[in-house]
This record gives sequence, C-alpha cells and structure tokens, in this order.
Amino acid sequence: MSNLDFISGIGPKTKERLFKLNINNIYDLITHYPFRYQTLKRSDLLSLRANDKVIIDGAVDSKPLVIYFKRKMNKMTFRLRTNQMLVKVIIYNRAFLINHLTLNKMITVIGKWDLFKNTIMASDIIFEELNNDLKIEPVYHLTSNLPKKSLKNYILKALPLASKYIDDYLPPLLAKKYRLIDKLTAIGIVHSPTTESELKRALLRLKYEELFIFILKIEYLKLKKQKINYQQQKIFEITKANYFIDNLPFKLTSDQMQSVNDIITDLKSPTRMNRLLQGDVGSGKTVVAVIAIYANYLAGYQSALMVPTEVLANQHYHNINDLFKNTNFKIGLLTGKLTKKKKDMLYQELAKGEIDLIIGTHALIQTKVDYYKLGLVITDEQHRFGVNQRSNLKDKGLEPDVLYMSATPIPRTFALTIYGDMDISSIKTIPKGRKKIKTYLKKRTDIKEILEIIKKELVLGHQIYVIAPLIEESDLLELENVNKLKHQFSLAFGKFYQIGVLHGKMNYQAKEQMMEKFINQKIDILISTTVIEVGIDVPNATMMVIFDADRFGLSTIHQLRGRVGRSSKQSYCILISNLEKERLKILTTTNDGFIISEKDFKLRGQGDLFGVEQSGDMIFKIADLKKDYKILLKAKEDAREFVNQNQLNDYPHIKKELEKSINLD
Ligand code: ADP
Ligand code: MG
Repeated sequence: MSNLDFISGIGPKTKERLFKLNINNIYDLITHYPFRYQTLKRSDLLSLRANDKVIIDGAVDSKPLVIYFKRKMNKMTFRLRTNQMLVKVIIYNRAFLINHLTLNKMITVIGKWDLFKNTIMASDIIFEELNNDLKIEPVYHLTSNLPKKSLKNYILKALPLASKYIDDYLPPLLAKKYRLIDKLTAIGIVHSPTTESELKRALLRLKYEELFIFILKIEYLKLKKQKINYQQQKIFEITKANYFIDNLPFKLTSDQMQSVNDIITDLKSPTRMNRLLQGDVGSGKTVVAVIAIYANYLAGYQSALMVPTEVLANQHYHNINDLFKNTNFKIGLLTGKLTKKKKDMLYQELAKGEIDLIIGTHALIQTKVDYYKLGLVITDEQHRFGVNQRSNLKDKGLEPDVLYMSATPIPRTFALTIYGDMDISSIKTIPKGRKKIKTYLKKRTDIKEILEIIKKELVLGHQIYVIAPLIEESDLLELENVNKLKHQFSLAFGKFYQIGVLHGKMNYQAKEQMMEKFINQKIDILISTTVIEVGIDVPNATMMVIFDADRFGLSTIHQLRGRVGRSSKQSYCILISNLEKERLKILTTTNDGFIISEKDFKLRGQGDLFGVEQSGDMIFKIADLKKDYKILLKAKEDAREFVNQNQLNDYPHIKKELEKSINLD
C-alpha cells in the first residue's frame, strides 16, 4: 500500500512503472522534476535546411504503422497534416503511443528534418498543438509504457495534495533575503512553466533550498562530531607566535597569512581542527605548517608530520631544523634507515615528551608509537595517502587537531563535496620574486634545438630534470627508455656534466642516494621516470624536460613542472610531443594550478575526479553542483551562519530532517 493509491488512474501496473523511476509515493511523484526544458516554437518548414531541428504541429493524417524488429525495437510511421504541407513522421520505440494517435488528433512533433523526403525523424511527440507564443515544455525521465502525457497527468493530479506531503526547509529569513517565492508555487511552476522568467525564479527557489540543506547537513555533522570529540583547547601567547613569524627568512604572502590565521583560530578553539590546506606546488605550504607546529608547541603539545616518502621526510627534517636553529625545539626523524636501537630511543623520547616534532612516513601512526601529548597531526601531500587517516588515529584513542596539505588543487565545489566536513584554506599565489616558469611545446624532431637550450642552462651551473616517456605496459620498456635517454644525453653532455638516472626498478636505498646526489648538486642532469617525488625542493634545478608529454594529464605535468621555479632564477619547462597540441598548449598559457585542474577536470568530466563517484548524498533532485556553483556558495555562507548563530533550535523540522540522514561514523 502506498499513498499513490489516492491518485485516480494509478493502478498496480502503473505503480510498478513508477517504481522503476524511483517514484514510490506522492512526495516522489511531485518532486520528480523535469531534468531539462524544451522551448517550443513553430518551425517554418519552407525555410528549413537538411537535418535542422524541427518543431511543428498538425493533425494526424493516417493511421500509424508499426514495425517490430530485433525483439524489443519498433518503428512507427504516420502522416501529419501541417498548415504548410503534408509530412511523414518516423519515430522509434514509441509503439505504445499508437492508441493516442487517432485520426485528426492535433499534436506537435519534435525532431530532425529530412529535407529531401519531407520527413521528420521524430524524437518526441506532444499531444497538444502549439499556440503562437513560445512554449516551454518540461522534459522528464520516463520509462517504458509510461508515456510523458500520463506521467504529467499523475503529477498534475498529485500537485493539489502537495501541501500535505511537502515540507519547506527554507528558513523564512533567507526566503526574504533573496525574495524567493513560495515552495508550493515554485513546484507548480517547475512542472508547468509559462514564461522563462517565472521558471527561473521557481528553479532558483528549489535549487537554493536543496543546496542550503545539503551544506547544512555538512555543517551540522561537523558540529556534532566536534561535540562528541575529546577537546583540546590550545592556549599560548600569540606574541610568541608572531615573533617567530616576524623572524622567518621571508615575509609571508597574504594567502599564507590567512591560512595561518585560520589554523591558529582552530587551535585555540575548543573544537577539533579538521582542515585542508591546499596550495599550488611551490606556494609555500610547509612554512604554514611549521607555524602551526610552533603554536602547538607553545601550547605544550607535540606534533607529528607525515609525508609519503622518506626523501620528503629528510627534506622537511633539514628545512625545519633550519627554521628552529638556536632554539630548544627538538625534532625527531623516523625513517627505515634507523637501527632498532635508535628507533627505540626515539620512541622513548617521544613517550617522555622530549621530542616536540616527529617527522616520518605514515608509519608514524600505523606502528605503535606512544606520544606524550600529541596535539597536532599534519599530513603532507594528502592525496598520496588516499585513505582517511583520521579513523586510524581515533582507534588509538588520540584526538589531535588535524591538518592535511595537498598540492593537487581541486576546484572548490569538488573540494567541498569530496572533503565533505573539512574546512579548507587555500594558498592561491606563489611567493613574490619568483619568475614565472616559461613553458615551451616542442616536437621530437626539435631535439637539436632542445639540447642547445639545455646546454645554456648547464653552462649557468643549473640542474636539469628529464622525464622519460611514460610506458604503461612494461617496466622493462620504461627502463630501456631511461637508459636510451641516458645514452643520448651522455653523448651530448657526458664529457662535462654528471648524469644520473632514477626509475621504479631501483631499490629504495639506491633511489634515496640518487636523490641526495641531485640535492647536493653532485649530478647535473637527472633522468627519471615519474617516480620523482612530489614536494622535492631543489632550487638550483631550473629546467624540466618532459618527453611524450601527451601521455600525461595536465595536472600531473603541472606537478612535475613544479619541481623547478623554486628560486629567483628563471626556470623553464619543455614539453616534447607531436600530439595533443591544443590540450598541452593550456600549460604554456598558465602557471595556475587551480585553472589547470579546472581545465583538466572539464576535459575529463565530473565522475572522474580522483575516481570519486557521486555518493548517495550528492544526488540532487534539482540542483547541479557544477552549474549552480554560485547558488552553492551563497547557500554555504548562509548555512554556516545559520549553524553558528544556533538557529537550528528554532526550526525543529529542519533539525529532524538533518538528523534523519546523518550518520556519525
Ligand atoms: P609547497 O607548497 O609546494 O610545499 P614549499 O613549502 O616547499 O612549497 O615552499 C617552496 C619554497 O618557497 C621553499 O623553498 C620555501 O622556503 C619558499 N617560500 C615559502 N614561502 C615563501 C615566502 N612567503 N616568500 C619567499 N619564499 C617562500
Ligand atoms: Mg610541499
């Protein structure tokens, strides 16, 4: 029994068909919104060209003829008498309409115009004639044996009952703020719009509410999670933190400063930090993390910095030690190289609180490490870890503040949905004084010229990365490629310059050693597969040469390119490819990772981003995260304010709706 039985004309068969569309009750029926609209305007048949879109009304002039084929397919043909001429209509798989297409019935046909046969290859039939005005026709998802006309009919019958089944979750204050129309009115219009402006207002009303509730759920979940968590409220003298900032070797950019402020506010608040710091390669995330670590230390807590590889761990260890020289701040480095004895010592120091910051790979939270007072966990290059580390910490009974850093910029909308309940700080500008990396697109046949350019850099004492072609099928081929390149480069430069290779087949220690050599400038040219680390910082490297660039995604190339341009020296990136010129050209026109990821994203489509599928929560009835981005931002602002001002308690029905779908781990 479903309340669909209250609607006359809906019997068991129809109900089954409606179920197929996920319509199980009156509410579902009413909110089965059109997925798009068609604007109907009568075509002038005499001025149409071949294959033009055609919209024409007229009377059915012959009994339709149906042919069945290939088991489930059918083709229906009939004559239509229009004001201008007799035409033939062909439509596939609509045999179920045959009983409605009685002689002299006035209908409208939409389709493609076959000029030479005076035939319409129809895609849709509407059982009404056109009037002289523009007509806006809703287009619904349908299922077999449920023609649009019947579906629309059921919806129209259900609409008068709407007030009983539809709840309004829009706080009146916000409705007023944006002068949004009443919900029931909006629903009526969405199903039968008469003008475009009216439709626009109705859609805005429904989309806004949907997005508002969506964000409200995220915000509410955050609030709930914070409440159930053990809370650390860090207290420290801000002047000391400021002193540290003022004495850094450089001045922070305003985005860095803003991120620092976000984080410090989180640390001081009684709720737990759960923040993503995203910024392009080279935008200076590390120093922001270090300030957070220092503030955490001032409050009397330990920090852990997790990185994906030991090369990165080493680099951070050295750089951060530099920033803390002449202080009592103590840093530990946990790597696989340590002897058991040294490791045990490190563990002991951690447990006793003698170490203020521990740097290492994710072993830091995976193995049994006891902390004295862990207050902050930072994860660098977050996307490399994939899985959420939080639950791992939680299992150990730890509830520190958590900061994730990622150099893979994600368009904001998606960051919001992928990272759901996380706060986000973004560093959008790179530090001043850096020269823009100049990027060139070259062909394989330009190799002489390319070698000339490389030579110029080498003469200046700069270092070069060369990325060998990407070969997916075989590691062996990859190796061959690297070795071939090494041979070529040796012929060209071997006399005066040191050349090293780095590839996935090398064991861990050999890789580390090679990286160290490059960092210490013992090697001038490093030929590598893509195993080269994200986050590696060698300011003297000024050129990145990428063979077969067309094999890589734009964001990947951008990441690789980010290995150079790390000092005030002019840096270059040379993309070698004979293919995909248009796509690769994007990289020559911008150095902005956010723009590049947007473009990459547009080229690859919505479902593809990091393999994250739209989850159940993200399926909207009427809004579209991408197209309705602006509404989303407004809704986000409003939802936050709504939660922060504790307004939820004034609206029990909204609260109930939120609780319904919230699942706290
Ligand atoms: P990423 O965001 O890619 O991790 P890093 O933190 O490694 O970037 O910073 C890249 C380089 O820029 C480092 O050498 C760092 O010392 C330097 N840097 C960071 N912030 C600034 C700044 N505000 N001014 C000048 N140089 C900076
Ligand atoms: Mg980094």
